[in-house]
Amino acid sequence: MAVGLLALQGAIGPHADALRALGATPVEVRTPDQLAAVDALIIPGGESTTMSKLLDTSGLAQPLRDRLADGLPTFGTCAGMIVLARTVLDGRADQNSYDGIDVTVRRNAFGRQVDSFEADLAIDGLDTPFHAVFIRAPFVEEVGEGVEVLASVDGHPVLCRQGRVMVSAFHPELTGDLRLHEQFLQLADMA
Ligand code: GLN
Repeated sequence: MAVGLLALQGAIGPHADALRALGATPVEVRTPDQLAAVDALIIPGGESTTMSKLLDTSGLAQPLRDRLADGLPTFGTCAGMIVLARTVLDGRADQNSYDGIDVTVRRNAFGRQVDSFEADLAIDGLDTPFHAVFIRAPFVEEVGEGVEVLASVDGHPVLCRQGRVMVSAFHPELTGDLRLHEQFLQLADMA
């Protein structure tokens, strides 16, 4: 299975390593043709406002909207979560929403004083905690019907799923724990 990694901005190397370790083939996506060729997509962490601009200038904006509307299995991590959210709070005025999942997220929601932190998260469906790295992370303020909340920090959802879209406020690719990538690949196979 070819899993696209949106490679406009942000760190994709660790995601590629995780996918390879699970037997999937990572494919960098920078053009509409490349997006058309993948069976699933990961939108990595980085800076969501920059990613939003680059999606416009690369011509990927509309093709991405179309594929999301067609049910492309997609995993958005941190900035990727923001790109996929239906509504973004504290975004830039020109930051686009891709409406991949019915959640409202707030950027940099954990506050300026805590730029980064780590936490052992209890995640629905996992037997043991997942060590999660948060870097200027967003959190979810509201979820629509049909959105499952799989993990929260202080009552704020940080891992959600709706249909074949998963979003995490943290960076699951940074700790060598492959369980969320594995869950995503399972979700993507449920065609
Ligand atoms: N704060 C960043 C943003 O708004 C996200 C940070 C991250 O992806 N680690 O896009």
